[in-house]
Amino acid sequence: MEEYFVCPECKSEDVEIIKERGRDLTLRCAECGHVWQITVSKMIQVPIIVSKHERSFKKTVKLPVDEEIRVGDIVELEDDEVRISSIELEDNKRVEKAEIKDVKVLWGESLMYPKVIGVSIYLPKGITQSFKVKVDREEEFAVGEVLEVGGYTFKIDKIKIEGKMLRYGRAKAGEVVRIMGRPIRGRASRNLEIYRGYGKD
Ligand SMILES: [Zn+2]
Repeated sequence: MEEYFVCPECKSEDVEIIKERGRDLTLRCAECGHVWQITVSKMIQVPIIVSKHERSFKKTVKLPVDEEIRVGDIVELEDDEVRISSIELEDNKRVEKAEIKDVKVLWGESLMYPKVIGVSIYLPKGITQSFKVKVDREEEFAVGEVLEVGGYTFKIDKIKIEGKMLRYGRAKAGEVVRIMGRPIRGRASRNLEIYRGYGKD
Protein backbone atom coordinates (compact mmCIF):
# COMPACT_ATOMS: atom_id res chain seq x y z
CA MET A 1 0.00 0.00 0.00
CA GLU A 2 1.52 3.25 -1.14
CA GLU A 3 1.20 6.05 1.43
CA TYR A 4 -0.09 9.30 0.00
CA PHE A 5 -1.97 12.24 1.43
CA VAL A 6 -4.79 14.42 0.16
CA CYS A 7 -5.48 17.92 1.47
CA PRO A 8 -8.90 17.93 3.23
CA GLU A 9 -9.45 21.55 2.17
CA CYS A 10 -8.58 21.68 -1.53
CA LYS A 11 -8.08 17.94 -2.39
CA SER A 12 -4.59 18.57 -3.68
CA GLU A 13 -2.16 15.64 -3.47
CA ASP A 14 0.77 18.01 -3.33
CA VAL A 15 1.27 17.54 0.39
CA GLU A 16 4.46 17.70 2.43
CA ILE A 17 5.28 16.28 5.84
CA ILE A 18 6.52 19.17 7.98
CA LYS A 19 6.81 17.31 11.30
CA GLU A 20 7.07 13.64 12.17
CA ARG A 21 6.94 12.21 15.68
CA GLY A 22 6.60 8.45 15.63
CA ARG A 23 3.38 7.77 13.78
CA ASP A 24 2.03 11.32 14.30
CA LEU A 25 2.55 13.50 11.27
CA THR A 26 1.98 17.19 10.66
CA LEU A 27 1.19 17.85 7.04
CA ARG A 28 1.01 20.99 4.96
CA CYS A 29 -0.69 21.43 1.62
CA ALA A 30 1.70 23.03 -0.87
CA GLU A 31 -1.29 24.25 -2.83
CA CYS A 32 -3.45 26.14 -0.27
CA GLY A 33 -1.20 26.16 2.80
CA HIS A 34 -3.62 24.21 5.03
CA VAL A 35 -1.85 22.46 7.96
CA TRP A 36 -3.27 19.39 9.70
CA GLN A 37 -2.24 16.36 11.76
CA ILE A 38 -2.78 12.67 11.31
CA THR A 39 -1.71 9.43 12.95
CA VAL A 40 -0.63 6.80 10.45
CA SER A 41 -1.35 3.10 11.01
CA LYS A 42 1.37 0.92 12.38
CA MET A 43 2.67 -1.26 9.59
CA ILE A 44 3.73 -4.88 10.03
CA GLN A 45 5.46 -7.36 7.74
CA VAL A 46 3.12 -10.21 6.84
CA PRO A 47 4.41 -13.38 5.14
CA ILE A 48 2.88 -13.94 1.71
CA ILE A 49 3.18 -16.85 -0.71
CA VAL A 50 3.09 -15.44 -4.24
CA SER A 51 2.21 -17.80 -7.03
CA LYS A 52 3.49 -17.31 -10.57
CA HIS A 53 1.56 -20.11 -12.23
CA GLU A 54 3.39 -23.35 -11.31
CA ARG A 55 5.95 -21.71 -9.03
CA SER A 56 5.50 -20.11 -5.61
CA PHE A 57 7.69 -17.61 -3.82
CA LYS A 58 7.81 -16.76 -0.14
CA LYS A 59 7.84 -12.99 0.38
CA THR A 60 6.60 -10.41 2.85
CA VAL A 61 4.24 -7.48 2.48
CA LYS A 62 3.96 -4.38 4.66
CA LEU A 63 0.37 -3.83 5.81
CA PRO A 64 -1.41 -1.63 8.38
CA VAL A 65 -1.92 -3.72 11.52
CA ASP A 66 -5.38 -2.38 12.42
CA GLU A 67 -7.00 -2.85 9.02
CA GLU A 68 -8.87 -5.74 7.48
CA ILE A 69 -7.89 -7.84 4.49
CA ARG A 70 -10.15 -9.96 2.27
CA VAL A 71 -9.77 -12.54 -0.45
CA GLY A 72 -9.72 -10.63 -3.75
CA ASP A 73 -7.87 -7.60 -2.34
CA ILE A 74 -4.78 -6.47 -4.19
CA VAL A 75 -1.63 -5.73 -2.20
CA GLU A 76 1.56 -4.06 -3.36
CA LEU A 77 4.90 -5.68 -2.72
CA GLU A 78 8.20 -3.97 -3.45
CA ASP A 79 8.44 -5.68 -6.82
CA ASP A 80 5.00 -7.11 -7.45
CA GLU A 81 1.26 -6.66 -7.28
CA VAL A 82 -0.61 -9.60 -5.79
CA ARG A 83 -4.29 -10.58 -5.65
CA ILE A 84 -5.10 -12.35 -2.37
CA SER A 85 -6.53 -15.82 -2.94
CA SER A 86 -6.46 -17.20 0.59
CA ILE A 87 -5.90 -16.01 4.15
CA GLU A 88 -4.42 -18.33 6.75
CA LEU A 89 -4.69 -17.78 10.49
CA GLU A 90 -3.07 -19.70 13.36
CA ASP A 91 -3.93 -23.44 13.39
CA ASN A 92 -3.98 -23.41 9.55
CA LYS A 93 -7.48 -22.00 9.54
CA ARG A 94 -8.45 -20.48 6.15
CA VAL A 95 -10.83 -17.52 6.09
CA GLU A 96 -12.33 -15.06 3.59
CA LYS A 97 -11.40 -11.98 5.62
CA ALA A 98 -9.42 -11.16 8.73
CA GLU A 99 -7.81 -8.40 10.72
CA ILE A 100 -4.25 -8.06 9.49
CA LYS A 101 -2.89 -8.55 13.02
CA ASP A 102 -4.44 -12.06 13.10
CA VAL A 103 -3.01 -13.23 9.77
CA LYS A 104 -0.34 -15.92 9.85
CA VAL A 105 0.25 -16.09 6.09
CA LEU A 106 -1.38 -14.69 2.97
CA TRP A 107 -1.60 -16.54 -0.35
CA GLY A 108 -1.95 -14.79 -3.66
CA GLU A 109 -1.41 -14.65 -7.37
CA SER A 110 1.12 -12.31 -8.97
CA LEU A 111 -0.60 -9.86 -11.30
CA MET A 112 2.72 -8.84 -12.85
CA TYR A 113 3.26 -12.36 -14.15
CA PRO A 114 1.35 -13.16 -17.35
CA LYS A 115 -1.86 -15.13 -16.97
CA VAL A 116 -1.57 -18.76 -18.04
CA ILE A 117 -4.77 -20.38 -19.26
CA GLY A 118 -5.68 -23.76 -20.69
CA VAL A 119 -6.89 -24.39 -24.22
CA SER A 120 -8.72 -27.61 -25.13
CA ILE A 121 -9.42 -28.36 -28.76
CA TYR A 122 -11.85 -31.20 -29.35
CA LEU A 123 -10.70 -33.13 -32.42
CA PRO A 124 -12.72 -35.82 -34.21
CA LYS A 125 -12.77 -39.36 -32.74
CA GLY A 126 -12.84 -38.13 -29.18
CA ILE A 127 -9.29 -36.82 -29.13
CA THR A 128 -8.57 -33.66 -27.18
CA GLN A 129 -5.53 -31.55 -27.82
CA SER A 130 -4.58 -29.39 -24.84
CA PHE A 131 -2.25 -26.43 -24.50
CA LYS A 132 -1.24 -23.93 -21.88
CA VAL A 133 -0.95 -20.42 -23.26
CA LYS A 134 0.42 -17.15 -21.93
CA VAL A 135 -1.89 -14.18 -22.29
CA ASP A 136 -2.14 -10.56 -21.29
CA ARG A 137 -4.51 -10.21 -18.30
CA GLU A 138 -6.49 -7.48 -20.09
CA GLU A 139 -6.94 -9.52 -23.28
CA GLU A 140 -10.51 -10.63 -24.00
CA PHE A 141 -11.86 -13.91 -25.31
CA ALA A 142 -15.27 -14.30 -26.93
CA VAL A 143 -17.34 -17.38 -27.69
CA GLY A 144 -17.36 -17.78 -31.49
CA GLU A 145 -13.95 -16.20 -31.94
CA VAL A 146 -11.44 -17.99 -34.19
CA LEU A 147 -7.92 -18.41 -32.80
CA GLU A 148 -4.79 -20.35 -33.57
CA VAL A 149 -2.49 -22.30 -31.29
CA GLY A 150 0.21 -24.86 -32.03
CA GLY A 151 -0.83 -25.16 -35.68
CA TYR A 152 -4.54 -25.62 -34.92
CA THR A 153 -7.14 -23.09 -36.01
CA PHE A 154 -10.17 -23.38 -33.74
CA LYS A 155 -13.38 -21.64 -32.83
CA ILE A 156 -14.20 -20.99 -29.17
CA ASP A 157 -17.33 -22.91 -28.03
CA LYS A 158 -17.08 -22.36 -24.30
CA ILE A 159 -15.06 -20.33 -21.86
CA LYS A 160 -14.53 -21.60 -18.33
CA ILE A 161 -14.10 -18.75 -15.87
CA GLU A 162 -13.67 -18.95 -12.11
CA GLY A 163 -16.83 -20.64 -10.86
CA LYS A 164 -18.79 -20.99 -14.13
CA MET A 165 -18.91 -21.89 -17.79
CA LEU A 166 -19.77 -19.30 -20.45
CA ARG A 167 -21.53 -20.54 -23.59
CA TYR A 168 -21.86 -17.07 -25.03
CA GLY A 169 -20.35 -13.69 -24.40
CA ARG A 170 -16.84 -12.72 -23.54
CA ALA A 171 -14.41 -12.70 -20.65
CA LYS A 172 -11.16 -11.05 -19.69
CA ALA A 173 -8.10 -13.29 -19.56
CA GLY A 174 -7.59 -12.37 -15.90
CA GLU A 175 -10.67 -14.44 -14.95
CA VAL A 176 -10.42 -17.17 -17.60
CA VAL A 177 -9.38 -20.67 -16.54
CA ARG A 178 -9.75 -22.49 -19.86
CA ILE A 179 -11.12 -21.94 -23.35
CA MET A 180 -12.59 -24.82 -25.32
CA GLY A 181 -13.28 -25.18 -28.99
CA ARG A 182 -13.37 -27.19 -32.19
CA PRO A 183 -10.97 -27.04 -35.14
CA ILE A 184 -12.28 -25.21 -38.18
CA ARG A 185 -11.00 -24.10 -41.55
CA GLY A 186 -10.63 -20.40 -41.68
CA ARG A 187 -8.54 -17.52 -40.56
CA ALA A 188 -7.67 -16.92 -36.95
CA SER A 189 -7.99 -13.42 -35.59
CA ARG A 190 -4.89 -14.02 -33.48
CA ASN A 191 -2.27 -16.53 -32.51
CA LEU A 192 -1.87 -17.70 -28.92
CA GLU A 193 1.57 -18.09 -27.41
CA ILE A 194 2.30 -21.48 -25.84
CA TYR A 195 3.50 -21.30 -22.22
CA ARG A 196 6.74 -23.23 -21.75
CA GLY A 197 7.05 -22.99 -17.99
CA TYR A 198 8.39 -20.58 -15.42
CA GLY A 199 11.38 -18.57 -16.64
CA LYS A 200 11.36 -20.17 -20.10
CA ASP A 201 10.52 -17.31 -22.43
ZN1 LIG B 1 -4.93 22.36 0.12
